[in-house]
Amino acid sequence: MTTETYTADILANLNLVKQRIQSAVKMAGRSTEDVQLLLATKTVSAEKVKVVIDAGETLIGENKVQELKEKDYLLGTLPIQRHFIGHLQTNKIKDVLKYAHCIQSVDRPDLVEKLDSRLQYENRFLDIFVQVNTSFEESKFGVHPDEAIRLIEKIRSYGTMRIKGLMTIGLFDADPEKVKPSFRLLREIRDAALRDGLLSKDGAALSMGMSGDLETAIAEGATIVRVGTSIFGKRQYPDAYYWNEKGN
Ligand SMILES: *Cc1c(COP(=O)(O)O)cnc(C)c1O
Repeated sequence: MTTETYTADILANLNLVKQRIQSAVKMAGRSTEDVQLLLATKTVSAEKVKVVIDAGETLIGENKVQELKEKDYLLGTLPIQRHFIGHLQTNKIKDVLKYAHCIQSVDRPDLVEKLDSRLQYENRFLDIFVQVNTSFEESKFGVHPDEAIRLIEKIRSYGTMRIKGLMTIGLFDADPEKVKPSFRLLREIRDAALRDGLLSKDGAALSMGMSGDLETAIAEGATIVRVGTSIFGKRQYPDAYYWNEKGN
C-alpha cells in the first residue's frame, strides 16, 4: 500500500470511529468532552501512528515495551500521551518507565511493590490505572473484582503512583447484553471507591470499550475508549497473543 492510500484509509476510519463515539455519547445523554479516544497501536508502524497524530489525536496505547521503544524515534518528541495498556512483567519496569506517561495495566501487588521501588529510586511519580478482570476469564489479566479495593488501598499507601482511574477489557461477545455486566462492574467498583474516598474526582476515569463494544462501554460510563482495529485494520496476531504471558 502506498503512503497516500493508507493515510486516506486511516483518516476515513478515524472519522467513522469518532462518529460512532459521538452517537453513543448522545444516546447516553453524556457530553462529547467526557469521552476520550485512545488509539491502540500494537503492531501498527510509527509512520501510520503519526497519521492520526497529525490529524490531532493525542492519546496512544501500546501493549509491548519493545514497540514503545521501537516507535520512540518518531513519536518520542511529539506532544502526545503514550499509555502502556499491555501485560507488564516486572523485569520490564525500568524500560517502560522510560517511554510511557501512564501505565493502565497495574493489576497485582508484586507489580505495585516493584513499581514503587523503581519510582522511589528515580525520585518521581507515575500516573496509573488499575486493571480489573471484570469478565472473570482466566485468559485475561487484571485484578479480581473482589480484590480491586484492596489493591487500590495498597497503591495509595505508597504515594509514588497516582491513580487516574480503572481499566478493563470486557467479555468478548457480539451480544451487548452479555458484555454490559463487565463494564457495569468496573463502574460500580469505581463508584464504591469514590464513595469511600479511595479515589478522587480526577482519579475516576473508566478506560473501557474497544472496536467491537465501544457503544456499550460509553452507555455504561466509559471516559476513555481504546480503539485499534476499527482505525488501523485487522492485526496479524490474535489478541490472545497480547493478553497472556508468552506475548511479552
Ligand atoms: C488491542 C487492544 C485494544 C484495542 O482493540 P481493538 O479491538 O483492536 O479495537 C484495546 N485495549 C487493549 C488492552 C488492547 O490490547
